[in-house]
Parts: sequence; structure tokens; C-alpha cells
Amino acid sequence: MDRFQTVLLFGAPGAGKGTQGAILGTIPGFFHLSCGEVFRSLDIHSKLGSIFYEYSSKGELVPDEITVEMWAENMNAQATLSIFKSHDDLLLLDGIPRNVTQAKLMEKYIQVLGIVHLVCKDKEAMIKRLRRRALKENRLDDAQENVIRRRWEIYEQETAPVLEYYPADLIVEVDAVGSPASVLQHVLEQVVPIQDGHFNNPISGEPT
Ligand code: ADP
Repeated sequence: MDRFQTVLLFGAPGAGKGTQGAILGTIPGFFHLSCGEVFRSLDIHSKLGSIFYEYSSKGELVPDEITVEMWAENMNAQATLSIFKSHDDLLLLDGIPRNVTQAKLMEKYIQVLGIVHLVCKDKEAMIKRLRRRALKENRLDDAQENVIRRRWEIYEQETAPVLEYYPADLIVEVDAVGSPASVLQHVLEQVVPIQDGHFNNPISGEPT
């Protein structure tokens, strides 16, 4: 199996990875997958769903093997159904890998072409974003201050080191502060050249 050509959307909880990923995912040639969204779509009465609930309600990460296995199964299902076309689509991953162990487990599935690191220096502003979203979307994990803080702690301890795992020249920083449209503009500046460089784009490639 060829590895999926991938860009990682990276950043702390509340940085806006999901917002950017969802917009980009509507553009032909990009396929967005949020690991948190896949987990949240599970039936909480199923075995995996109850494991997810057990960890996420405390702000903890689901164990690595289970996570990567679930993610790989989901990707393969989407590829089998041709929802994700691995030869045409650049995969944009958000929320995975979440630590170095996951990054290693995923090596056999993905080739990382770039990492867009959404940076927000103001931690309190991001915590405020999370709280607002929790109220709007009825999310259990971000409704409680202590769970949000725990998510941040794990980000700093486990997720941030993922940036050191990959070659530094793959990583670009994008300022996460600003309107979704202006952040999008900067993210596009990074991901469009990668997409253009790796896939045939029949529309843009047609003679004028
Ligand atoms: P969102 O980005 O939509 O806010 P998250 O990515 O924070 O959602 O995911 C919510 C929860 O799902 C996390 O707190 C964690 O329990 C679980 N989760 C999501 N992705 C992973 C992952 N890669 N590894 C382990 N647990 C994960």
C-alpha cells in the first residue's frame, strides 16, 4: 500500500485546527479528517465508544494503539468507499498524531509532506474559545475548567514534542489569532503549493 500523502494540522486545543480543516476539506483535492470528530461520532454504548468516553471526559488521551488502529480502520473504510481518494487527495489530519508514540505507529500509513502549526501565544484566549465552544456544542470535555486545563497540560507534555519528531524543514508556523478567513488565507499559502506539487489537478492543468 502506498502511504497517504499528508499534511498535519497542528496546534494546541482551541487553536482552530478543526475550523480550518473543515473549510479546507470542502475544497476538491483536500480530504480532512479530525480524530476527535471520529471519536465523538462513535456510539458511546459500543466498546470503543465507552473507552473514548472514559478518557475524553477527563481530558485524557485514548490509549495509543487503540487510537491508531481506529484511525487506520476509518481511513481504509473511507478509501474503500472512494470518499477519500488517496491518489487525488491530500490528506489533512487534525488531532492525530497526538504524541510521539502515535507518530511512530503512523509511519507505515502516512508520508508527512508538511506540518502547519497554528500558533497562539495567548493561552487564556484559547481557553476562553474552548469554553465558548463547549457551551455552543454541548461538549462535555471542554465544559469544565479542570478538564480544559488537563487537555492543555497533556498538549504541552505529550503533543508539543511531536514537532521535534519530524524534520524541522517540514514545519511552518501560522498565527492562529485572527478571523477564520484570514487564518485560512495563511494556511492556504502553505498547503496549496504542497497539493499542487504532489497531485495532478486536471482543471488547473487544462490548456487555456
Ligand atoms: P477537537 O479537536 O474537536 O477539540 P479533540 O481532538 O480534542 O477534539 O478530541 C477530543 C478527545 O478525543 C480528546 O480529549 C481525546 O480524549 C480523544 N482524542 C482525540 N484524538 C486523539 C488522539 N490522537 N489520541 C488519543 N486521544 C484522542
